[in-house]
Amino acid sequence: MPEGDVVHRAAGRLGRALDGRVLTRSDFRVPRYATADLTGRTVLETAARGKHLLTRVEGGLTVHTHLRMDGEWLVSPAGRRTPPGDRVRLVLANAGWQAVGVRLGMVDLLRTETEHRVVGHLGPDLLGPGWDPQEAVRRLAEQPGRSIGEALLDQRNLAGIGTIYRAETLFLAGVSPWRPVGALDDVPGIVEIAQRLMDANRDRTDRVTTGDLRPGRGMWVYGRAGRACLRCGNRISRAELGAQPQERLVYWCRRCQPD
Ligand SMILES: [Zn+2]
Repeated sequence: MPEGDVVHRAAGRLGRALDGRVLTRSDFRVPRYATADLTGRTVLETAARGKHLLTRVEGGLTVHTHLRMDGEWLVSPAGRRTPPGDRVRLVLANAGWQAVGVRLGMVDLLRTETEHRVVGHLGPDLLGPGWDPQEAVRRLAEQPGRSIGEALLDQRNLAGIGTIYRAETLFLAGVSPWRPVGALDDVPGIVEIAQRLMDANRDRTDRVTTGDLRPGRGMWVYGRAGRACLRCGNRISRAELGAQPQERLVYWCRRCQPD
């Protein structure tokens, strides 16, 4: 599941290939936009907003995409063969480069002035230029009875965290994912840890939260169910939490993160 750091890196790759150049090809392979054609328009900029990507095009248009579960943007020199089959949802290309969006969870074409319809609900973006930790804390605190594990994944509170950063953040904070937000002493501290972890990984392909680059040592708890906690040796627990089926798994150490 791509999280905010992956999406921001994708925005960087798309921007370097497309921004400031005239599109020579646009191929929307989603029924709703099958006839849309952006050929001849210059791409103005590519922005990430939480886990959403916004490609702004001359003429007041925005291409909105979301990687959802396992989507990605493949950027390569123009003319390369695109992956076969229906996995391709969108191709944007210019004379030098092509960007192929595969397995994208969302593809929309909308007026730039109406972007708020697709990203207006999002809380502050942990990796965005306007990152506002106080606002994120304020939004989290609005539902004091909700578990911090669920609240951190709710993109309306703060945008960019998925199951990996949730698990690692709460381990480093020493907080059980099941604790209600209203029972926590230091919500700003949790938000700060999340931002620091994501920022440290924004330019790195292999995520590391432990500072240990050796294989299998990069994460404190995520994906380590049943293995020994790197801090206390206790077995790492795994369970399901919350309503979104694709984002439920939580990992935590019952000793380092007591209930
Ligand atoms: Zn532990």
